Parts: sequence; structure tokens; C-alpha cells
Amino acid sequence: MIRLATFYWDITVVLASLLLLPATCHSQMLAGTAKVDVTDYQAGPVHDPLYVKALVLKQGEVQVAIVTVDAVAIGGIGRLKAGYLSTVRGAIDESLGIPPSNVLVNASHCHGVVRGDTDKLTIKAIKDAMDNLVPVRIGVGLGHEDRVGENRRLLMKNGREIDVRHAYSMPPDLEVAEVGPIDPQIGVLRLDRLSGKPLAVIYNYACHPIQGVPSGANTADITGLASTVIEENLGSEAMAFFLQGCGGDINPVFYKHVDQPRDAVTLGNLLALSTLKAIRSIETKADNRLRWINEKLELPRADLAEKIIQQEQQQLELASSLRGTTLSMKTFLPLVVKYRLADQYPAYYSHRYLHEKKLGREELAALDARNRRDIEAYIGNVEAMEKLTRINTNLRLLRMHQKQNMEAPERTVTVELIGCRIGDFVLTSFPGELTVQIGLNLKDKSPHKNTFVAGYTNGYIYYAPTTKQLANVGGAQEDSDCILAPHWQGIYEQKALEILEQL
Ligand SMILES: [Zn+2]
Repeated sequence: MIRLATFYWDITVVLASLLLLPATCHSQMLAGTAKVDVTDYQAGPVHDPLYVKALVLKQGEVQVAIVTVDAVAIGGIGRLKAGYLSTVRGAIDESLGIPPSNVLVNASHCHGVVRGDTDKLTIKAIKDAMDNLVPVRIGVGLGHEDRVGENRRLLMKNGREIDVRHAYSMPPDLEVAEVGPIDPQIGVLRLDRLSGKPLAVIYNYACHPIQGVPSGANTADITGLASTVIEENLGSEAMAFFLQGCGGDINPVFYKHVDQPRDAVTLGNLLALSTLKAIRSIETKADNRLRWINEKLELPRADLAEKIIQQEQQQLELASSLRGTTLSMKTFLPLVVKYRLADQYPAYYSHRYLHEKKLGREELAALDARNRRDIEAYIGNVEAMEKLTRINTNLRLLRMHQKQNMEAPERTVTVELIGCRIGDFVLTSFPGELTVQIGLNLKDKSPHKNTFVAGYTNGYIYYAPTTKQLANVGGAQEDSDCILAPHWQGIYEQKALEILEQL
């Protein structure tokens, strides 16, 4: 009886093993990583190398490649041309059997200079990653970093919005009423080897990596520098993949400082430390969920004619507002210092003013009145000129995009959206510069706790600000460097949520 029971038990175990074994083998999540230096060393001095990095994931029959590159964009602007993505995808489909739809390429949006043959180097990185596949455990965590970025849109007391750029001057301090939000969240995916040693980390954060280094040399900037610090600290040849988030209106802090060198290193260290803190808190586990969705969406193109007319009108008004004064820069500067320094007696010592008063003359007072009038007029002219620099810059962008939109054969632009789930890590992507509020909206409405959004992915259609931001009359780069009609936001967010719900 006992023997019979043991026999049946043994048979059951053997049968179960036969049934489960192939499934277990196939369902084990495998991951491989590789990176290739894509710095253009011919383009001038280099502070730190720029990389293309590939993470290949394989689960059963599903194979995907997640690629990050220290470049400004995937096509559209910068060194990676329009054919970059299709070249990479074609080669990977042919050699590795990873379908084009399963390749995600995210640009960090750093403004470094990559090699002209980065497409070939990207293909090499993906192939090398495929050669390195090992079983992995997966975990997800959240980091917090609010010292690196700030919203670059300033809400003015007159209701308009102006942004903080090197291309033009800041508005007068007292005209600024409020600043926009940031997203301090760092979304982290950790992949460990079965030994427990880290193999790869993906971290998602929203900020323009455009701080630069003191020498002005080529650099992967805040995010490239952060990745290196993370890799050095994790050891075991772990690779850090930075996925740029909704950083469309997020600048590095102290972006306009003129009294200290531009310092991406310190900001990179802060981002790395906060990411490492999150990485340490993650416990990885066996998790074989790998889902991937790739969909196309049509978004409406803008007609910018009205905006251009408004801007030209403002340009004319500002030019007409310039007033004649006797001052020039040479006389204005010492005069304004004197009149700010000694408000009551700027022209000479007080005794002379008192002496004149005693004699019934007010010659210095009359001189002061005239100078004050001229100083105010001159400052008014300077402020008008500063406004003109903003308008001229943004008007150039508006005209360029109006030409593009009018020449486009369709009134819509096709965008590729990816949704993916890796364990508890859920990501959706967009091929442009989403402003931060859109990322915050999607995170808020997503059914999944750990939802992250990567802009700058699989293409580049310039800035994608909110409908409300687009109602602003061309006063910020994001509103002007945009080909989308204002109602695009609702169409996109609805589609992105549909994708998230399927994950
Ligand atoms: Zn940008």
C-alpha cells in the first residue's frame, strides 16, 4: 500500500516535471547588456564619453531591446539622422530576429556630439547584449531628487508665460508671479544576476541634461555622469541605463548663473546618489512578466498663422515703444550706479544741494530730474530689447514649423507609442519633449503604481506642451518649437492610458 502510494507520487512528480520543465525554461527572464563609446573625438575636446547602451530582454519567445543613447534626439535634430532608427531596427530584425516594434531607443537629450556612424555602433551594442544573456531577478523602486531640476516656465503677473533659456534675457524679477512644477520621482528597475549581483539598472527622471562642464568640452552631461557614478558604485560591471522622462520644461538648477562655471558633475552626483539610494532599497525576485505594446497614433498638426501674426504685432509694438534719450551705454552705466547708490544726493555732496537751496536755486535738483527721466527711459528701451530677443527667437521657430506643417502632406503627424511591463515596472514612451505636467497626469491616472513615462523615444517631433501651455502667446520655447495643435494633449493622454491599461 505504502509502495503503491509512493509509486503514484513519483509518477505524479515526473509527469508534472515533464509538463512544467519546458515552460519553466522558456519563461525564465534573460537579460544581457552592452555599451559602445559613441563620442565624436574629432569634434573637439572631450570631458567624458558618450555611450550607446543596449539591454536585451528575452522571455520565452518574446525578445526586446531597450537602448539608451547620450544624444539630443532620435532623428529630427542633432547627429542622429532620420534614417537612424529604421537602419538599426532593420539590422536587428535580420540578424537577431528582434522585430522592429520591439526596439525602444531613448535619447538622454544631452547636447553632446556623437559619431556620425552611431547607427552601426548601436547595432553592435544590441548584438553584444544578445551575446551576454543571463537569467535575472527583477525589482522596482522609487527614488526622490528635487535638487537637480527646476521648471523653466515662469508665470508672469500679466498672465503670460516666459521660459528660462540661454537664447534670451530673463524678464524683470518683479514681473514674475509663479513657477511651474517638477517631477522629483526617479523610477528604478533593477535586474540582478541569480547570484544577487546587479546586472543592470534602468532609471527614469525628467530634466534637460544641458548644464555643461566648466571647459565647455563634449559631455554626456548630468545624466551620463550620473550613470557612470552609479556603475562605479554598483560594481560587478552593472550597467546603468538612463531613460529621459517628461523633461520638456525642466532645466538644471542655476542654469543662468554667470558667476560660477557650469557644473554638470555636481548635479550628476546628486542624481546618482538618489538613484543609488533607491537601488539599494529594491529586493529583486524571480518575475517573468515581459509585455510589450507598440502602437501608432495620429496627432493633429498646428496652424501657427495666428500665433505668428500675434508675435509680429508684438514685435512692431515693442520696436515702436523705443524712446530717444541722451544716454548711451557709456554714460548710462556710471549714471545709474550713482543714482541707485545715493538716491537723495546723486550728483554731488549734500552740502551743495543745501547751499543751492539756501540761495533759492535748484540746479542740481533739475539735473537729477532730467537724468532720472533718461535713466528710466533707457531701462525701458533695454527691457523692450530683451523682450524683442525672446520674440525674435520664438518667431523663428514658429515660422519654421508653420512652413513644415504647411508642406506636410497630411494634417496629422504619426507618432509611435510603446508600452512595456517588466515585472512591476511599467513604462510608456513618446517621440518628443513632453512637458512635465503630462508625465504627472499619466502617473496619476495610470492603474499601475510604478508607471513611468519616457519622452525622446523612437523619433522626435519637437516639444509637446500641454493645451494650456499652447494657449500662451509664443512666449516660451516649448510653445513655439511645437508642430502640434493645442488639442493634441487629450488625444495622446487617452491613448497612453489605454496602452497602460493593457499592461
Ligand atoms: Zn529640449
